[in-house]
Amino acid sequence: MKYKVDDSCVCCGACTAVCPTVFFMGDNGRVAAIADDVPEDVLEDAEDAMGGCPVGAIHTV
Ligand code: SF4
Repeated sequence: MKYKVDDSCVCCGACTAVCPTVFFMGDNGRVAAIADDVPEDVLEDAEDAMGGCPVGAIHTV
């Protein structure tokens, strides 16, 4: 399972707080997801982060 953050992200930081293993603030000031498959032990946190995104900017790929 991989995730992607689209351009509708408003950089609220919620996903980076809920699942910092997967979501992070990039050097460009935009929030992004790690390129690798999400580790099993944080899959639930990643799902919670996706569900909690206020603008629906997180998608599975
Ligand atoms: S929760 Fe959504 S809007 Fe907030 S930083 Fe993450 S992707 Fe962006």
